Amino acid sequence: MKPKTHANPPAHCDLCTADLDTEFVDCKTVHGPWANLCTKCFHSNGIGLGTGLGQHWVFSHIEFKQDGSVHQRVFTKKGG
Ligand SMILES: [Zn+2]
Repeated sequence: MKPKTHANPPAHCDLCTADLDTEFVDCKTVHGPWANLCTKCFHSNGIGLGTGLGQHWVFSHIEFKQDGSVHQRVFTKKGG
């Protein structure tokens, strides 16, 4: 089965603005709204992983355009 990929991966954590180069969690926070968080912020602000809670995305590879420039970073869903 083809892994699910994120359509529009965020560049930075919504809370601490850390670069999200390797992984991030798209999750509901203890504050209410959803956010894209680094794993550190997820552990202190996330509620959990799973349907309606959060999804863990891990960097897979970079897709390049024909001219060699970066087309997009591809993150695949991990568990949750
Ligand atoms: Zn963070």
